[in-house]
Amino acid sequence: MDFSYPADVEQFRNELRTWLSANLTDELITARRSPRSDAVFDMLHAWNATLADAGWAAVSWPREYGGRGATVLEQLVYTEETTRARAPLPLNVIGMNNIAPAIMQYGTEAQKTTLLPRMMRADDIWCQGMSEPDAGSDLAALRTRAVRDGDNFVVNGQKIWTSLGHRADWCQLYVRTDPEAPKHQGISCLIVDLRLPGIEVRPLVTLNGDTDFAEVFFHDVVVPGDALLGPLNAGWQVATTTLSHERAGAARLYAELQVRLEELVTDFAAFGVGGDPVTLRRLGEIAVRIKYLEVLCQRSISATLHGGSEITALGSASLAKTVWGEIGQDLAALAFDVLGPQASRWADYRLTSRSLTIAGGTTQINTNITAHRVLGLPR
Ligand SMILES: Cc1cc2nc3c(=O)[nH]c(=O)nc-3n(C[C@H](O)[C@H](O)[C@H](O)COP(=O)(O)OP(=O)(O)OC[C@H]3O[C@@H](n4cnc5c(N)ncnc54)[C@H](O)[C@@H]3O)c2cc1C
Repeated sequence: MDFSYPADVEQFRNELRTWLSANLTDELITARRSPRSDAVFDMLHAWNATLADAGWAAVSWPREYGGRGATVLEQLVYTEETTRARAPLPLNVIGMNNIAPAIMQYGTEAQKTTLLPRMMRADDIWCQGMSEPDAGSDLAALRTRAVRDGDNFVVNGQKIWTSLGHRADWCQLYVRTDPEAPKHQGISCLIVDLRLPGIEVRPLVTLNGDTDFAEVFFHDVVVPGDALLGPLNAGWQVATTTLSHERAGAARLYAELQVRLEELVTDFAAFGVGGDPVTLRRLGEIAVRIKYLEVLCQRSISATLHGGSEITALGSASLAKTVWGEIGQDLAALAFDVLGPQASRWADYRLTSRSLTIAGGTTQINTNITAHRVLGLPR
């Protein structure tokens, strides 16, 4: 960042830096980039509890839910410092960034107090059941059905691509509760205990041999009525919750790529490769694109800081997500092209980078959003 931070923000940085240097081990840094074997998962689980106990797992969350109520600048510093230190993030990434804000906005007091602290500490692992075999980009086409039966709901259907599904205790599940209503209006959100009878979780094995996500099947699952999050048939509003306490999260996009680029240059130097003009040009292009991404992310953070339009911020975020995914794929490809058989350290990223332009909204969908919201083009 090119502006200086106020003294209290620098104090926050120093406190975090000191804590990280005392607690973050080389083993954890390596684990962050390793495929999620059970041993790696257990290590990251323990790290998550350490982070939470020290108050560093959810700095952006309000204090009442166990966070620090950090300001936007403090969040930015948190992102910079944890990324530079290569610290693993809390395990419930989707939970903390997407599900928790919805619980904070729509949840009952009982849901908030019982679920949020355990999510932050990863005492419970969370997954998000949105996508189905015939409902991905067009999420509103989802067909998993929940039918009222007295005080309960009975759920039938299937979810797919559920990240952490096979490890999860809880699922934020989107279901159709009114099949007669227009498709965006007949959806509800349930918070489902995955240990309930009738739920079957089948892990999906990805290109790199990981089981990062799963298919989740629901066969006549009886879910208690108090699992409803938000009003009945208001699931679309819950899904598009914009209340996010994590206002500077976009900074992680460019900060992480910058760290990866530095690691790539270090590897090239270690193997004595990459000094030819073609590789230098490719490296230079990636460096410039990361700078461009930094400007895009700062634009969206600045809109938050200075009260800019939410629409601009959302459009910039869609553009930033697209650019981030494409740079990540090009960086991984460059590592392989130049390092060849010595690129084993990059193998996992090379394979998982294929998903960067799909997860969390595909490039085509984000390009449509950018065209509409940033450029003002008709739908
Ligand atoms: C790593 C990873 C983690 C994921 N985690 C989760 C999770 O935890 N929970 C969950 O619910 N889902 C998860 N997903 C699923 C993800 O949200 C979907 O894959 C994504 O929304 C796309 O849906 P789809 O795969 O059904 O593709 P489709 O929607 O079928 O799209 C297929 C192709 O058509 C294009 N396309 C579709 N509609 C349009 C359009 N209107 N205009 C232009 N092009 C279009 C798409 O861009 C894509 O190229 C994850 C996916 C990945 C890769």
